[in-house]
Amino acid sequence: MGFYSLHVEDSPQPATGSFNIGTRRFSPSARALVVAGLAWCLLLAWGCASGHQDPFPDDLPEKRSVRDVEDRLRRAAAASDRLTLRSIGKVTCGRFQAPLWLVVFSPEKAARHRVLIDAGVHGNEPAGVESALDFIDELTRNPGRYENIEFHVLPLVNPWAWAHDVRYNKDGIDVNRDFSSFHAREAALVDRFVTGTRYDLIVDHHEDPEGSGFYVWQYGRDDPALCRGLVDRVSKLGYPIEPDKRKVLISTRQGVVDAPLWGLYWMKWTRRLSLTNYFRLNNADAVFTVETPTRINLSDRLIMHDQARRTFLSTLGPGGGS
Ligand SMILES: [Zn+2]
Repeated sequence: MGFYSLHVEDSPQPATGSFNIGTRRFSPSARALVVAGLAWCLLLAWGCASGHQDPFPDDLPEKRSVRDVEDRLRRAAAASDRLTLRSIGKVTCGRFQAPLWLVVFSPEKAARHRVLIDAGVHGNEPAGVESALDFIDELTRNPGRYENIEFHVLPLVNPWAWAHDVRYNKDGIDVNRDFSSFHAREAALVDRFVTGTRYDLIVDHHEDPEGSGFYVWQYGRDDPALCRGLVDRVSKLGYPIEPDKRKVLISTRQGVVDAPLWGLYWMKWTRRLSLTNYFRLNNADAVFTVETPTRINLSDRLIMHDQARRTFLSTLGPGGGS
């Protein structure tokens, strides 16, 4: 799952004006300071609660084969002269080796938009990877659908974790908390690849092993209407929507997590920046994370991911495949 933002408005606090503690009366500015201090402590507590773990043993058994992904990508690239299969670097963990694959789609017409699709930052969230691979197949079958969009697809950002069905990389690093420090090879490779490139849209495919319904993250965005419309469509298809979590640090409302821009700077400052936080600050104004609950059928999760990607692409106009 993506990072959790702080929504100060969820904190219990007086509605307006001054407030009292015991017999003392505090001004609005003092109140703001107290709220900020409280937020600080809670964020610090949250920050310590997530992150990394001990490295994994060398003999951890594989659950999936990256060869299968490579075979599928090679077949797709061979079937379309508009697709190019590249590697942005290699992940090596003992005897395990895998390229960090990049698929580039060059449209028929001059590209008016550039879009980045990524998946598999967390290895135990397989529907995202499967959905990205499905999308690459779709580009092969129907290249005219997106006639003016150049796509960069990173279908498997954390191949060792995916092969072993775990959240972290081999060193126990949560790659999705490493986009300030870049201790993880996977994060460093993505950073090197995207530095200096602007995108019109970035879609990040995740899953939530503890979730019970679909939800989506938006970052530093004024209006939640696009995401709310997506959630409505997914709901009308009969799929569950993640219940509202109106806690201090987590706020899922009607299937949308609205991460404020200041929260991303906070994550950067506390050196826990996620992939999408980083993208929003450096590479695109329109960045979204799609989350599906791993407890329901894979085929249903794939429909939700596909629906989300189509919705976001439709914002790019006629060439967006709408
Ligand atoms: Zn995730």
